[in-house]
Amino acid sequence: MSYYLTTAIFYPTASPALHSLFEAIGADALARYQRLLGNETRFLTGMDEHSAQVEPLARQHATDPQALVDEWAANWRSAFDHFEISYDRFIRTTDSDHVEASVEMVRRAQASGDIYKGTYAGWFCPGDNEFKTESQLVDGHCPDHPTLELQWLEEENYFFRLSKYQEALERLYAENPGFCEPEHFRNEVLAWLREGLRDFSVSRAGISWGIPFPGDPDHRIYVWFDALTNYVTGAGFPGDRDAFAKWWPADVHVIGKNITRFHCLYWPAMLMSAGLVLPRQVFAHGFMTIRGEKMSKTRGNVIRPDDAVALFGVDGVRYVVLRDIPFDRDADITLRGLVRRYNADLANDLGNLVNRTVSMSARYTDGALPPVSSAQAPADLELKATAQQAVADYHAAMERLQFDEALASMMTLAGAGNGYAESQAPWNLKREGESQRVAEVLSVMAETCRLLGHLLAPFTPATATRLAEQLGAPAPYDARGAGGPGLATLLTWGAGPDGWQTGRAEPLFPRTEVPDEGGSLDDTPPEDPMRDTASPGVAT
Ligand SMILES: [Zn+2]
Repeated sequence: MSYYLTTAIFYPTASPALHSLFEAIGADALARYQRLLGNETRFLTGMDEHSAQVEPLARQHATDPQALVDEWAANWRSAFDHFEISYDRFIRTTDSDHVEASVEMVRRAQASGDIYKGTYAGWFCPGDNEFKTESQLVDGHCPDHPTLELQWLEEENYFFRLSKYQEALERLYAENPGFCEPEHFRNEVLAWLREGLRDFSVSRAGISWGIPFPGDPDHRIYVWFDALTNYVTGAGFPGDRDAFAKWWPADVHVIGKNITRFHCLYWPAMLMSAGLVLPRQVFAHGFMTIRGEKMSKTRGNVIRPDDAVALFGVDGVRYVVLRDIPFDRDADITLRGLVRRYNADLANDLGNLVNRTVSMSARYTDGALPPVSSAQAPADLELKATAQQAVADYHAAMERLQFDEALASMMTLAGAGNGYAESQAPWNLKREGESQRVAEVLSVMAETCRLLGHLLAPFTPATATRLAEQLGAPAPYDARGAGGPGLATLLTWGAGPDGWQTGRAEPLFPRTEVPDEGGSLDDTPPEDPMRDTASPGVAT
């Protein structure tokens, strides 16, 4: 089976902030999970480079727009690599195949009679490049960008006939409500649909930074036919028919909840107009908030990625954000809470179980363990049953992108493993000379740790590899989670190596401490997925 997933392409800034990384980390966990299942997986992420603000910023910094976004894209790629985001392609909307794809999408809409020239007049927010209706304004400002002055624009634009797709989209949601998940964000989309769809502007005149509009070189393609098209470009559209047949439709577009309108209404209509099949699902995640507000520079409530890594390590950051923020809704986080979570789950429960298992094996059995099938005491079978239930719960949660629940299932097993160690007390058995039972108990603990390693692999890939090495049961897949026999096999109780020999115990997740207040909240430039930001920052 093949599996194709995407993040939104991100609004261009000098480097990613934690909430962009949050989306990428969530999508990455899903990509790795799919590879571990044995699916051939393609994972697309990237940058939305034709923002209206790039040109003036480039001028301000005495460079040209392309050089500016080249530098930013390089920063983003290296940040994504650092955070183990296992993308197959980092797409940039300035890539030549993407320019070709955008033009082709417009041409197809033109051929379907869905593009017409009209005059647009309205309030335009430069923060998200959107025209705002009067009813959307708060005190005369865009609610998302209260500090920016709106511009009254009147101009000749090309429009896409979204209104023509009213019935088709109603039918889509009647027949396949799961097209947009989760339900609470879908309900917003359905409310917009009930209000009636309005045609939207697809070109801008008088700018040079952007893709020339087919048939009218005075215009540039404006946002949606550029940005949204990246998902088909990344699958090979229009030139690579074999790739496109293989990867399209996408299995899921992972996006932020602020851009559901465009992904759940505009995008399917654009695809229908182009005669292309729709993606299987759009999944909108919530935002991490601090003190109840979305992180932003202007609000001064930003956790910088580097500060988070200093506290938790890369894998620790990946774990705590996905564990503490349910992917499908907003959640308030505090550094104190993340530190508590990290220490409780990773340093204590999980780290302790692995550490005591590997060190007791070395001490009591020279690391040699019998097959776990020899352990058949009631307590052994009970832990086995707990493990099987945890694995089933984990899969069910991963299917729904409920990463926090998947990790909670994983931690249930870690807790049960520690409870088993306490109740079986191999240190007492050793003193009493019960050597055979000691080895059995340790094999049950090692098997539990082996399963935990595979369950952790989508989330903390580097540490999962180290865990497997300490256990002496190296993971049979590559650093991206591909090439293994599939999770169904790997997560079967008793699938560990014969003649198991454990290695040397080393702490996987060192304890961490809450930093001094204020030391870690500071001023990373804000940026958001796609068009939702106050102002992009520039490295100075
Ligand atoms: Zn705005």
